[in-house]
Amino acid sequence: MTEIDLLIIGAGPAGCSAAIYAVRAGVKTIIAGGAAPGGQLLQTSEIENYAGFVNPIGGFEIMDAMHKQCKRLGVEITSDEVVKIEGEKTPFTVTCADGKIYSAKSIVIATGAKARWLGLTEEEKLRGKGVSACATCDGFFMRGKTVAVVGGGNTAFEDALFLSQFCPKVYLVHRREGFRADQVTVELARHNPKIEFVLNAVPEKILGTDAVEGLRVKNVQTGETKDLAVSGVFVAIGAVPQTDFLKTSLVALADDGLVLADDRAHTTLEGIFAAGDCADKHYRQAIIAAGTGAKAGIEAAAFVNKHR
Ligand SMILES: Cc1cc2nc3c(=O)[nH]c(=O)nc-3n(C[C@H](O)[C@H](O)[C@H](O)COP(=O)(O)OP(=O)(O)OC[C@H]3O[C@@H](n4cnc5c(N)ncnc54)[C@H](O)[C@@H]3O)c2cc1C
Repeated sequence: MTEIDLLIIGAGPAGCSAAIYAVRAGVKTIIAGGAAPGGQLLQTSEIENYAGFVNPIGGFEIMDAMHKQCKRLGVEITSDEVVKIEGEKTPFTVTCADGKIYSAKSIVIATGAKARWLGLTEEEKLRGKGVSACATCDGFFMRGKTVAVVGGGNTAFEDALFLSQFCPKVYLVHRREGFRADQVTVELARHNPKIEFVLNAVPEKILGTDAVEGLRVKNVQTGETKDLAVSGVFVAIGAVPQTDFLKTSLVALADDGLVLADDRAHTTLEGIFAAGDCADKHYRQAIIAAGTGAKAGIEAAAFVNKHR
């Protein structure tokens, strides 16, 4: 068993930022980074909205820099995959997939989320070439172009409204006529001349070989198909927080699997903190993950220093 002050689960922007703050407060810190230390940013080659970089920076470059910064400060980063957290008070017992066990005075959960995709075969091939699950991240690359947003919840509507600021036409494709989104947001979109609703429709095929050229949708009532001429398809059908391993723990989760954490990153279990996309319903952006990670690192360090 490895005894440690602070175990951070996740080596994305939230986990790294938490580690930087904690280790600089004198707290011995290990990051269990899982199978893909670096997180979701590794899936993107161009980030233009992380403050501090004049030119776009690649996801790998930014995460490589964060990992090197953590290591320079004395943080150990492993590829341990955590499967279980036990205990109702400090110290907590953490079990990894390979059987390794940690005893940690405090824990930061920063395990991120995974976008939900449609499951179309062309979707993966055209990711980054017009297919995206993040309008905030990739919408800017679609300025002046016609795009489609798929979904019927708040995210889909907010994405459509956001994209309508710089796209001449935005199709909002939804499988039903009713929406889960707030009525106010729905009405804003309904009255926006650039947004056209395509209802009772499910995406059948994303058209294009090297870039998106269209979206084929099927009307679920008539069975008819039609091709929307779009250069971008934004999939807004939700994200899955990577929190399954917490279901046997005493850390409370919301119905959608997000970790319940307050605005100072405290979960429902004293000594365990959460940051980044695994606890974020609204933003899911790297800079926000890093910001909440910083809060979690500060709070975890204070907790550890109080329990020495
Ligand atoms: C294609 C794409 C493009 C994006 N573009 C942008 C952009 O341009 N700008 C922007 O701000 N944001 C962008 N985002 C969103 C951004 O990547 C996320 O908001 C951010 O990475 C969240 O950081 P995080 O640290 O919370 O989680 P993540 O980055 O998801 O990191 C989670 C970490 O937890 C680890 N982990 C998960 N489960 C376990 C476990 N059980 N045990 C151990 N480790 C575990 C993972 O391996 C990983 O290391 C993009 C996302 C995607 C998918």
